Amino acid sequence: MRIDTHVHSTHSDGRSSVDEIFSLAKKINLDVVALTDHDTNVGWGQANSCVDKYGVGFIPGSEISTIFNGQAYHLLAYLYDGDEPVLQNILSKSKDARFERFIRMFENLSKDYDISLSDFLVYVQGMNFTDALVNNDFSVHDVLKNSGLPLGRPHLADVLIKAGYFENREQCFDTVLHPCEKYYVPYSPANILDVLRAVNNAGGFTVLAHAFSKKRGKSLKYDDILLLKNHGLGGLEVNHYEHDLKDRQKAYELSCRLGLLQFGSSDYHGSGKPNKLGENTTRVDTILQMEAKTFGKVRWGWIK
Ligand code: AMP
Ligand code: ZN
Ligand code: FE
Ligand code: FE
Repeated sequence: MRIDTHVHSTHSDGRSSVDEIFSLAKKINLDVVALTDHDTNVGWGQANSCVDKYGVGFIPGSEISTIFNGQAYHLLAYLYDGDEPVLQNILSKSKDARFERFIRMFENLSKDYDISLSDFLVYVQGMNFTDALVNNDFSVHDVLKNSGLPLGRPHLADVLIKAGYFENREQCFDTVLHPCEKYYVPYSPANILDVLRAVNNAGGFTVLAHAFSKKRGKSLKYDDILLLKNHGLGGLEVNHYEHDLKDRQKAYELSCRLGLLQFGSSDYHGSGKPNKLGENTTRVDTILQMEAKTFGKVRWGWIK
């Protein structure tokens, strides 16, 4: 059985719709997909419909942006109560911070590049902004803010690509969107300990995503992971595109020493990243152990 536990759709910065993801999953014989859009769970309803349509199972999730020791970490949260207000408040604040940061970076870039917010709204994938624009009840700024789309640098990359300045997101991240560049603006997501508490209180299960990637310039030690475990962390992503063999070994050893579950995933973003759907997977017994601890239940598709 093949289970991919980390996938992004057009509800955040992926370039494939939820339907396209499940259709592709069926084509490549994936059995279960977890939808883990950044700081949102708005795609869960669509994903649930896709279980019946394609017979592919679904695990509800999100990838939550956090801060730990002054550095950014992504925390995967699965099978939590999507209506729990404390966690929803964290996600909502993160979307607001992302929006303010997006606007500031957009303004910085527009000093040197010929780009406009209206152009962005018209083509952004997966969102139907046109009615609001035609009715003209709101400013472009408000329409974008009210959309709830968790905006990030990949969206800025897409604006620059659409305007003809770059060919792909990678080129943008290596140049104008790089933190060393003058256009860059940071944003402050929630503290990881607060997020761990909120997800656990919402009946969910947490997994630290791609945390051992040297590319991201981090060096997590035993004591760091122990602290996170003591605050409710349930697992580590071991097999991931950005982990080389040594990173995987380190994540594996730490998960064994600390009794954390081991996850593997693609972190698929459609055409937005080279990662291929299903290129790494998580074992079914791991999913069953997780499910036994959570409020939510896995939709197993045709399997059950
Ligand atoms: P942000 O949190 O907005 O600063 O941007 C981080 C997001 O950009 C994450 O969702 C990554 O998946 C994505 N990302 C990071 N590096 C790249 C890259 N080189 N190409 C495409 N997407 C990237
Ligand atoms: Zn992403
Ligand atoms: Fe991530
Ligand atoms: Fe991701």
